[in-house]
Amino acid sequence: MLFTQTFIPTLREVPADAVIASHRLMFRSGMLRKLANGLFAYLPLGLRSFRKVEAIVREEMNGIRGLEIKPSVVVPGELWKESGRWDTMGDAMLRVQNRLGGDFVVSPTAEEAVTSLVRDALASYRQLPLTLYQINTKYRDEIRPRYGLMRGREFTMKDAYSYHADEASLDETYRAMGLAYRRIFKRCGLSVIPVRADSGAMGGSDSEEFMVESTIGDNTLILCRTCDYAANVEKAACKAEAAPSQAAALPALEPIHTPSVTTIAQLCDFLKTDARSFIKTLIYRARNVALDLSGAPGSAGLAKRASSPEASPVYPEAFFAVAIRGDLEVNEVKLAAVLKASEVSLAADEEVVRLTAAPRGFAGPVGLTSLPLVADLSLSALQEGITGALQADTHYVHVVYGRDFVPWLSADLRTVVSGDRCALCGGELYEKKGNELGHIFKLGYKYTRSMQVSYLDESGQSHIPLMGTYGIGIDRTLASVIEEHHDEEGIIWPMAVAPYQVIIIPITYAGPVKALADTLAADLEQDRIEVLLDDRNERPGVKFKDADLLGIPYRVVVGEKNLNRDVPVVEVKRRGDAIMRLLEVSKAKAELSRLVYRELAG
Ligand code: ATP
Ligand code: MG
Repeated sequence: MLFTQTFIPTLREVPADAVIASHRLMFRSGMLRKLANGLFAYLPLGLRSFRKVEAIVREEMNGIRGLEIKPSVVVPGELWKESGRWDTMGDAMLRVQNRLGGDFVVSPTAEEAVTSLVRDALASYRQLPLTLYQINTKYRDEIRPRYGLMRGREFTMKDAYSYHADEASLDETYRAMGLAYRRIFKRCGLSVIPVRADSGAMGGSDSEEFMVESTIGDNTLILCRTCDYAANVEKAACKAEAAPSQAAALPALEPIHTPSVTTIAQLCDFLKTDARSFIKTLIYRARNVALDLSGAPGSAGLAKRASSPEASPVYPEAFFAVAIRGDLEVNEVKLAAVLKASEVSLAADEEVVRLTAAPRGFAGPVGLTSLPLVADLSLSALQEGITGALQADTHYVHVVYGRDFVPWLSADLRTVVSGDRCALCGGELYEKKGNELGHIFKLGYKYTRSMQVSYLDESGQSHIPLMGTYGIGIDRTLASVIEEHHDEEGIIWPMAVAPYQVIIIPITYAGPVKALADTLAADLEQDRIEVLLDDRNERPGVKFKDADLLGIPYRVVVGEKNLNRDVPVVEVKRRGDAIMRLLEVSKAKAELSRLVYRELAG
């Protein structure tokens, strides 16, 4: 391909909002342009790399017997009403009406659309397992699109959905996906960290996210220095402290006067101690709680809703007291998972006062009968603690877990931080920031049940299939390749996703230099090597700078002096390497082919 016949509008300037390398370099190299906030256009060069990432993903999906489909992007709102997500997706979901007033959704994801297709076609267990996937446009009305392709509003996702007769089959596909994802990212030249991820209230069990380390990452990863434990902080667990050895006689519970002292910091000052000695009690409001609260304190009058006679009831709203050691934070994602709630949030001040019959700042577990008490495991390791006494200006000291209060439920609720100990091996945990490129997830019956999918088994009995969902952001993956492979001058493409594999730069595109450059390009193209020939009438310095910016793996410079040697040569340099080699013209094609194919083979 001749440079002058393509459309690669390179830029010297960087757009002001481009703060990360991939965003900057994709604009500068003429791969990408912005149409509006979060909306982009791939130009020809960018699209070439995009298609390569897409092709790798497609190959790996086909390799594990995924079947590609192409549903419309605009889907009936009706399907989202069936699954219940019409009401829960919030403002990220773009809803549109057609001229007849019908509701439609511009797909932010496609569990509903694909499940409806499966529902219509599924009859027998013989059709299972079934994995369908698409590589298609998604739209999410992100509040703050940023970092270029990393968080756009419109983007392309590979989303796969699998359907199974039993757990073993779901396990098998889930495992195969996990391996396929590892191969995909490796082939793209990416170092990913697979982490255990929260599956929240989605009703699923296993979930794994594929992260790349990034200073601008939205996710906090918790990693172990000793073993291979890696988890999203939303899910990360740590080793609970050992229970105290029982001291012979602990002092009795004692109220103390603490006038206007309502925060832990104030209490620390007041009592000359540190936050680790406190039992912090927070009142949470939880929505759509699927946990059985019968018999729990304060649950007698709670409203319940049951979707079907056999389904367990859901409490649309319930309040809980959550107690944790004073220096720790409650992890709300873990809390929601423990309560089987769709959402948890701190109760408003007036609710706290109403529910604890005490002013804000004086909640505590001792004598609390109006709410179920959920205690973090850190509390059972406290010898004794200090806590609010459910009355103004009063705290208790010498509070002993199990003696002075007994929680209704005890669970791991803390947010793990650097320095905590690994639950698997006891090693030290540390944090990294990461960006999520992909996510695999066992969904269980969530959609297949609400959307009434069924099949008949061997004996003609009707069953609901199990389901898994698996996504990869193609654009974000591409941007991450650039994040991992660039330097001051520009991109350094891994061969597998490079827009072209060889760039030929004739010092001046004329005479014998032109003739050789043309021949070499044609010969390489015969070998199915992708060549960009910089035929522009520019100074060599400009062409070299652009070649570094574009990051095409092999650069071949053809100059008159080198052609006039006894043995004519061309200069070859791998982008990113410091060394330049001279190749004899007669061997240039064969050697370049060999180099390119060797890198493609990995
Ligand atoms: P995030 O937490 O980054 O918003 P998510 O959890 O919403 O991601 P999923 O719903 O699991 O993402 O979507 C699967 C994949 O789609 C993500 O792993 C990511 O690669 C990609 N993706 C999601 N949102 C965007 C976006 N706004 N722009 C680009 N890619 C995205
Ligand atoms: Mg998101």
